[in-house]
Amino acid sequence: MIDPEVFALDFDEYLARVAVLTDEILIPAEEEMVAAGAVPEHVLRALARHGLFGVSIPRRLGGLEWNMTQQVALTMEFTRASCVYRSRFSTVIGLCSQAILDHGTDAQREGLLPKMAAGEHITAFALTEPEAGSDAASLTTTARRVDDGWRIDGSKRYITNAHWADELVVFARTGEASEGAAGVTAFLVPRGAEGVTTRLPSRMNGHAEAPVAEIELVDVRVDDSAILGGQVGKGFAAALRGINHARLHVAATCVGQSTRMLEETARHLSERRQFGAPLADLGAVQADLGRCFADLEAARALTVEAARAFDTGTVPRHRIAAAKLFASEMAGRVADRCVQLLGGEGIVGDHPVPRMWRDVRALRIYEGSSPVHERNLGRAVTRQVRLDGTLPDTYRVTRGPADAA
Ligand SMILES: Cc1cc2nc3c(=O)[nH]c(=O)nc-3n(C[C@H](O)[C@H](O)[C@H](O)COP(=O)(O)OP(=O)(O)OC[C@H]3O[C@@H](n4cnc5c(N)ncnc54)[C@H](O)[C@@H]3O)c2cc1C
Repeated sequence: MIDPEVFALDFDEYLARVAVLTDEILIPAEEEMVAAGAVPEHVLRALARHGLFGVSIPRRLGGLEWNMTQQVALTMEFTRASCVYRSRFSTVIGLCSQAILDHGTDAQREGLLPKMAAGEHITAFALTEPEAGSDAASLTTTARRVDDGWRIDGSKRYITNAHWADELVVFARTGEASEGAAGVTAFLVPRGAEGVTTRLPSRMNGHAEAPVAEIELVDVRVDDSAILGGQVGKGFAAALRGINHARLHVAATCVGQSTRMLEETARHLSERRQFGAPLADLGAVQADLGRCFADLEAARALTVEAARAFDTGTVPRHRIAAAKLFASEMAGRVADRCVQLLGGEGIVGDHPVPRMWRDVRALRIYEGSSPVHERNLGRAVTRQVRLDGTLPDTYRVTRGPADAA
């Protein structure tokens, strides 16, 4: 449950409270989390009390309703701590709640979002399948009409929070395979429904304390009220609503993680002496830190700008994709340089930077892998230029055929 006084805070006060949470609870609990192999219960309770499951959910539905610019500022703050914490509420605040908010029925919104905002109802977003990863629209999980509703059969994998979720948003094919995305419907399926089983992987390389899960769906029966928005064949639009939201949060996460890695590394370099002086005094080391800082600030600016555009009312999906692509590649570069600058401490022992180095690797893979974003953005550039001579999500004031001439 969200502490009642949190609702009275203005945004700056709330951000300050999240900064204290990060410095006094999340960062100090990282070692406990790693030793336990899971996010400690007391941390999950603190996240819920602070309202982090509800940042994107409207106040009338029990959330804090911060806009996207505010949400990315918050994310950059709390992801100075392990990004594994964020995994535990990411599927609630981005992928699932936004799909339900914009595409659900009134009953679905009012029934689910208040308890999701309170951190009392965990949802997982079940899109990816063993044979449908980057090409998600080729999914083969089926939902077939039966007398009293629908029968769902199929497999999902790599699903964040699926093993402990209360509810799964399952994307299943209700049309023909030839229809691609148009034949996909989203279903709200209780994880405890008969025929649903989840299984954790034997090992995670990164994000180890918040593992993804496989889901098997065998003869799972639901009625029409389980269809998100009650609309057959509209599942992919709902998925993209959640995905675009989540991509911007991932970009902000890359900024938060890189901020911490850079701070930790610079601190180490100021204390570690070699050749009679702190390593931080070496010109080559300073150049490395300077490049990391410039990279980080570029990603921050890109992310904040995409969030600003988001708050004007349209989803700037190409700018969001560009921010996610750049920020996740940036985090990879910063992580690699920081590990290098730590020397043996980057490989041996408990320093937080190598743990973050492993964790940020996944950010270049989920919410669309980097090569897929490059391909899609390249295609969008060509398509838009052919259409009207401008770039996707253009900043230009005028557009139209005359403009392109
Ligand atoms: C930690 C983690 C959490 C996740 N959480 C969720 C979740 O909650 N819900 C969910 O539905 N899914 C989730 N996923 C799945 C994630 O979205 C997929 O891993 C991702 O879409 C890539 O699919 P894939 O792993 O099957 O890789 P593949 O599709 O097999 O692709 C492998 C690689 O091939 C290259 N490639 C693929 N296609 C192209 C192309 N067109 N052009 C150029 N290169 C290409 C890329 O380098 C790509 O990384 C998660 C994954 C991870 C690792």
